[in-house]
Amino acid sequence: MSPARYNRGMSVNMPAREFERWRAKVAPLAAMLGDRHGHPVWRAGVDPVDELVNCILSQSTNDTNRDRAFNALKARWPDWSGVVQAPTEEVIATIRVAGLGNQKGPRIQALLRDIHDQQGAFNIDFLAQLPLEEARAWLTSLHGVGPKTAAIVLCFAFGRPSLPVDTHVHRVGRRLGLIPEKMSAERAHPLMEALVPPDQHYSFHIQLILHGREICHARRPDCANCPVSGRCDWYGARQATGSPG
Ligand code: SF4
Repeated sequence: MSPARYNRGMSVNMPAREFERWRAKVAPLAAMLGDRHGHPVWRAGVDPVDELVNCILSQSTNDTNRDRAFNALKARWPDWSGVVQAPTEEVIATIRVAGLGNQKGPRIQALLRDIHDQQGAFNIDFLAQLPLEEARAWLTSLHGVGPKTAAIVLCFAFGRPSLPVDTHVHRVGRRLGLIPEKMSAERAHPLMEALVPPDQHYSFHIQLILHGREICHARRPDCANCPVSGRCDWYGARQATGSPG
């Protein structure tokens, strides 16, 4: 039997019939997670360059400190050219609340410089018109931009079919049997985007994040109050072996 193929043309290391079985898990999960966490709808309004900077600031910190750092950056330099021209130590000091300033400050300056060098402005709106995979390739060619950041910008800033696999999506996806146990978050992007219908990438991403934050915690998942426990591989395996869920 020939292997299934991702919608990005990458081979899936599983038989096509098996791939279809995995894909069939998504609709009932999305319905049940939607009953619990809602069915979020994407709305325009996020500036793509702001989103890129936000992604860098969000690494290893919480949303509150990310937002504080972003607001401090914008208050100090309302225009991105100010950030690029500023002494790096000043940028680092301004975003200190988000942590890892020594890494994030230079990374933000390099990213912004990269965008300006290529586009002649701090503007990447042209990505809205580019074929999806070309837009993704352009983003990941930027300094410090990997598959997750590219997926976040495409999904949140442009409303394009792209499903970011962050730590919650990766953990919950593996437990639910949507992502193989040993597959990295980075490699899970094309798989998740193949399994989930494109028009549900945004809502399913948000549902998995909310589920990870509110119920399927990393250390002590609240399986007793989980609406999808009957479809969860991790829970099912624990029930079968008598392990505490
Ligand atoms: S049953 Fe438990 S492990 Fe499975 S998704 Fe729900 S909370 Fe997570």
